[in-house]
Amino acid sequence: MKMSKVDKLNVSLSKLGFGLMRLPHKNENEIDQEQVNEMVKFAYDNGVNYYDTAYVYNNGGSEIALGTALKQIKREDIFVADKLPMRKITSKESLDELFNTSLERLQTDYIDFYLLHALDRGLLKTINEFDVVAWALQKKKEGKIKYLGFSIHDTYETLLEILKLNDWDFAQIQFNYMDAEDHPGEKGYLELTKRNIPIVIMEPLKGGMLSDIPDNIAKPFRDLNGSNVKFAFSWLAEKQGIVTILSGMSNMAQIKENVELFKNIQDLSSEEHNAILEVEKNIRSLQKVNCTGCRYCMPCPFGVRIPSIFKGWNTNSMNNGSNWISGSYIDYESAEKCTECGACMVHCPQHIQIPDMLKNVISEKE
Ligand code: SF4
Ligand code: SF4
Repeated sequence: MKMSKVDKLNVSLSKLGFGLMRLPHKNENEIDQEQVNEMVKFAYDNGVNYYDTAYVYNNGGSEIALGTALKQIKREDIFVADKLPMRKITSKESLDELFNTSLERLQTDYIDFYLLHALDRGLLKTINEFDVVAWALQKKKEGKIKYLGFSIHDTYETLLEILKLNDWDFAQIQFNYMDAEDHPGEKGYLELTKRNIPIVIMEPLKGGMLSDIPDNIAKPFRDLNGSNVKFAFSWLAEKQGIVTILSGMSNMAQIKENVELFKNIQDLSSEEHNAILEVEKNIRSLQKVNCTGCRYCMPCPFGVRIPSIFKGWNTNSMNNGSNWISGSYIDYESAEKCTECGACMVHCPQHIQIPDMLKNVISEKE
């Protein structure tokens, strides 16, 4: 496994991080713990030492699943990353309650990498109102948090505001070759690098979209005999300052493919960079909505299956209207249930105007 030596923190992190947001399920409500155990063990045996969960993933199920899976391995051999659910903070006291719940679910007494989750401009007020940074620094002093950071899905300007709040140990940003312009994009990446803040990457495959590119669109990759995933990961792995790239792995096949790739990940040639530009152009000309499938907007109180509708809409568009590949079905009936209440929008890290987009979906129904 390719490793990143992070001098600032005096640790060595695996370049591939295990994101535990899209875990395998037995049914809609039950995570398949046996599979998670197997996946975590395989990752660990193959040198992955960074495991990323969050209080809100699977309504706490992800933390519980990771805590259970970690019983098979030595806690001190790996790094657990977990996140404070900023929108659940109701008082200063609630900070301890939320943190202790995470520790209990994970069956641990410390968290290696702790993040203020999905910061945006609106949450700056919450940070100030409840002295969140001071609280987290106290936890760090007590040894319950080893390294303090944040994740962000907002603009470069908001990133600058966040950077004023603390001398952060690390930062987690959404970055991939389709998201170089914002959230906070290339500018954000460069800013963090300039300040020597180690960077963890989320959504390297844009919620799986960059791995599922149909062959007609990804032809430049096929011409160079590379997989979609290889191009997306390599684009990030060669960048200075990026210490770990999270992949939300859902099954053994994905872990095996990723582990193999990260064993010997190489810098891209100029020909390969050009192929990425081509594919990016192809996707942009066909993509309908910038949804990563993160499910933060769910559940919709009216039963609209938002991410699955958007996935179908994009996939259908990229496949020239045919619906032969999985995920390209558009559930119009579900889209029509939208009452435009707006409850989902506040949770969307991509700032998608969800009700308007759903109207667009319906208007294209044949
Ligand atoms: S705006 Fe529509 S999709 Fe969003 S929560 Fe309300 S009903 Fe559901
Ligand atoms: S609409 Fe937004 S919140 Fe919902 S799945 Fe897509 S990106 Fe995530």
